[in-house]
Amino acid sequence: MTTNKFIAWEEKYIVPTYVRPPVVFTHGQGAYLFDDQGQRYLDFAAGIAVNALGHADEQWLAALTEQAGRLTHVSNLYYTVPQIELARRLVKNSFADRVFFCNSGSEANESALKFARKYARSHHKSGDNFTKTGIVAFSASFHGRSMGALSTTYKSKYREPFAPLVPGVTFADFNDLASAAQAVNQDSCAVIVEPIQGEGGVNPADPAFLKGLRALCDENNALLIFDEVQCGLGRSGKLWAYETYGVTPDMMTLAKPLAGGLPIGATLVTEAIAQIMKPGDHGSTFGGGPLVCSAANVVFDRVNQPQFLAQVRESGAYLVDRLRDLDSPQIVSVRGAGLLIGLELRSPVAPLVTAAREQGLLVINAGENVLRLCPPLTVTPAEIDQAVDILERCLEVLE
Ligand code: PLP
Repeated sequence: MTTNKFIAWEEKYIVPTYVRPPVVFTHGQGAYLFDDQGQRYLDFAAGIAVNALGHADEQWLAALTEQAGRLTHVSNLYYTVPQIELARRLVKNSFADRVFFCNSGSEANESALKFARKYARSHHKSGDNFTKTGIVAFSASFHGRSMGALSTTYKSKYREPFAPLVPGVTFADFNDLASAAQAVNQDSCAVIVEPIQGEGGVNPADPAFLKGLRALCDENNALLIFDEVQCGLGRSGKLWAYETYGVTPDMMTLAKPLAGGLPIGATLVTEAIAQIMKPGDHGSTFGGGPLVCSAANVVFDRVNQPQFLAQVRESGAYLVDRLRDLDSPQIVSVRGAGLLIGLELRSPVAPLVTAAREQGLLVINAGENVLRLCPPLTVTPAEIDQAVDILERCLEVLE
């Protein structure tokens, strides 16, 4: 049995940082994944909100194949066309003036935090006892696992084993402007927030909260960073989640769906921030390489179509309607935006995740009691029906 052999090898050779179910995936097509036993699964996890166009999308694959045969990597010591084309697309379709490319969400946030520190030093009196280094983050936030990003990630379980982390981070309560007002002051260089929290439980920010953060940042000369690693690029039903709020950040970080399944990160910034970064201040060997950027250009052009985004909103509304119709005493609430939907239960969702997988549906959690539904943005109504029917059956068994 190949499954058992590979699972045994995984246990022997891989650093044990993940708990994996006993399934070995071999390929995918659209919203479906297939395992080495020929079993088919409807993928409502999408690689944790990554596979925006589903698996093995034809146009994406054609662009990648063509680019791989031409040029995969030269490093950032040289110009390459797909990177510059992607930066231009991102700038022309957002608040930003310039882009820094890296390889993951953590790295994109790491870059934003470094830019904020240097911006504060460049714009405010900097001496031996320079104190404008504070960073404000929020309860239930998730910004990544590298030291800087981890320092702004809320769960102490993730942070404590690796202390001491980057100093100067204060946590305020998410969606509580009074708490934020206590934390943000003249010593703050940045405030980092997810407009819709993903890992922390699929929690959309209140419009007044984001507007208030913008005002607090302006009053205190701090930069506002929106982490749209999970909620950005069409997932919320708008190209950027911030558009719904009418609040513009100074920096925005992107990653997960941007290259449709290949590793990429991007930090979008205003001109004033870009101007304080000089050659050698920051960098990445792989960031924005021609292969990932050729894939990202395809993803961007597909997602950035009015009909595509309208379809995401329609599919999301249909998914929410179907979930709200479920008649289970287990359900506390259905929330989210677009195709980033949380189903909060009265009890831990782990048994539901397992039961659903055994019935051919992949879903993930967002915290202990919230089931996260983040299918490919191309998911069809029939696939939504199939997923909700499976969840309904599983919820009945769990009651
Ligand atoms: N920011 C947010 C909002 C995320 O959801 C994640 C990952 O889940 C990250 C940052 C970290 O991204 P990565 O795992 O690519 O480093």
